[in-house]
Amino acid sequence: MGKVIAIDGPSGAGKGTIAKLLAGKLGFSYLDTGALYRAVALALREKGINPEDRDEKLKNTLSVTDVSFKNGTIFLNGRDVSEEIRTTEIGHYSSVFSARKIVRDFLLEIQRNASLNADLVAEGRDMTTVVFPDAWKKFYLDASVEERAKRRYLQLKEKGINITESEARKDVVERDARDSGRDIAPLRKADDAALIDSSSITIDEVLENIMKVVRTSH
Ligand code: C5P
Repeated sequence: MGKVIAIDGPSGAGKGTIAKLLAGKLGFSYLDTGALYRAVALALREKGINPEDRDEKLKNTLSVTDVSFKNGTIFLNGRDVSEEIRTTEIGHYSSVFSARKIVRDFLLEIQRNASLNADLVAEGRDMTTVVFPDAWKKFYLDASVEERAKRRYLQLKEKGINITESEARKDVVERDARDSGRDIAPLRKADDAALIDSSSITIDEVLENIMKVVRTSH
């Protein structure tokens, strides 16, 4: 098993940007676990599955679903769905379906396997607490709701998705509540994770703060 740098935090905290830069800097692989949850949500929705459906129904689809993340591209049954999973609708469904144990169990091994043959920067909601509790380095990346909503708005706009600032804020607040309030693997800061608030510092400064911790020997 390779070294794992685990990063958790709420939606829009900058985890993706930071994890990608960090992985590039250190020569580690990068794993976007949110993309895995989004691909599963897409698979379930394509089969017409609704959030209130029973486990049995989800299981039928999951048993014929293959998701993988390779070099920044997310595949669903061999199909590149990197763009499709970025809509606000799939963001919503990923957060809803990710509260189901059957979905979390399905993705657990896929996530852990990513560290078998490579050093890894993994980011998500439960990297430091559930998936990689013994990670080499752990971080919790946070930012104010205002700042995260602004970033999410700009990010979606850039992708050509039609959204207002208040819709982006609503999306962030709703997902925060669902991701932190669920029973299984809720988003929380692990006791041994270093907290970094990126509200009023630059990406370079966040990276530098992370590198200071990474450079410590143990
Ligand atoms: O990070 P991203 O916004 O792409 O994640 C989409 C959703 O997937 C999150 O809102 C969360 O509900 C879920 N997720 C999760 N555990 C992870 C990563 C993402 O529950 N490790």
